[in-house]
Amino acid sequence: MAAMKIFACMALCLLAGPLPAAQWYKHDDTVMGTAVHMEIWAETELRSRSLFQKVLAELHRIDVLMSHYKPQSELSGVNRLAGSQAVKVNPELFTVVKHALHMSVVTHGAFDIIYASVGRFYDYRLKRKPNADTIERLLPAIDYHHVVLNEQDHSVRFSRPDVYIDLGGIAKGYAVDRAIALLQAAGVHHAYVSAGGDSRILGDKQGRPWLVGIQHPRDRKKLAASLPLRDAAISTSGDYERFFDENDVRYHHIIDPRTGISANRVRSVTVIGKACFTTDALSTGLFVLGVEKGMALAESLPDIEAVFIDRFGRLYASSGFVNKTPR
Ligand code: ADP
Ligand code: MG
Repeated sequence: MAAMKIFACMALCLLAGPLPAAQWYKHDDTVMGTAVHMEIWAETELRSRSLFQKVLAELHRIDVLMSHYKPQSELSGVNRLAGSQAVKVNPELFTVVKHALHMSVVTHGAFDIIYASVGRFYDYRLKRKPNADTIERLLPAIDYHHVVLNEQDHSVRFSRPDVYIDLGGIAKGYAVDRAIALLQAAGVHHAYVSAGGDSRILGDKQGRPWLVGIQHPRDRKKLAASLPLRDAAISTSGDYERFFDENDVRYHHIIDPRTGISANRVRSVTVIGKACFTTDALSTGLFVLGVEKGMALAESLPDIEAVFIDRFGRLYASSGFVNKTPR
């Protein structure tokens, strides 16, 4: 009887052809000026390709809305006009700006999207920085309170004409979350999506956690640590991504809103949480705050862990890592 069952099953399988075996599919691309890496567990290559295309289209859509480099983006419209009038914006852009302002409150102003009122005068590729006069003149413009939101008509207004928004510290996190939401809605249960320093993991890797590396801040080929993660968001901010060195000073892309100059307390900060929307902004904010204040803040926030590497290369991990088996 048992033999007959096996035989019948084999015959059926032969008739139907080989069952599609799910496997991991990978895709690398460049969107939002950043390296995007995706891995998904899918039944067929065809399905994986269509999912990758959907995610890429979504990332492009967000970029067109939120890039301050693109003159035709909705954000560029805000930067041009909001100093003199209220500008109605797409509800999605409104939500991102609103969350950014909330993250400013959480980080006591260390994360501030209008850091760019001064920050836009840095050009790391051309090794350009604003001079002392420019910094002094524009520093008062860096204060997130200058961004006034109107919930009724989804408009944004600046209370000074010289305010400038850059969403570079939060838009990628938002985009990675959107990518994961899109994959989930399509029935995917296991995926890894990263854009630059922001990654999200959906599910696990064949019953095991993903091992996500924290890059060594001074040696590209080395990892400073590896973290076992499942169903998590992880963002790293470092002083080694976009920078130039001059007279032993490193000018890099994370600016302390209180000085208008690159924050120099640490070399990198990694934040682990539930969504990249928050971990992205938080890693930038904690970078500005440094180990002492940043760690105190990380410890006070629910569902947040952090790893700091200070300017001497010393590593500090928040208390949630101690005695914790992989999540
Ligand atoms: P990456 O862009 O390499 O992932 P981060 O997430 O740390 O790194 O974001 C750094 C970006 O955030 C900068 O390139 C800039 O666009 C923006 N930024 C810099 N300083 C601040 C700040 N103090 N508050 C908010 N955004 C900032
Ligand atoms: Mg960040």
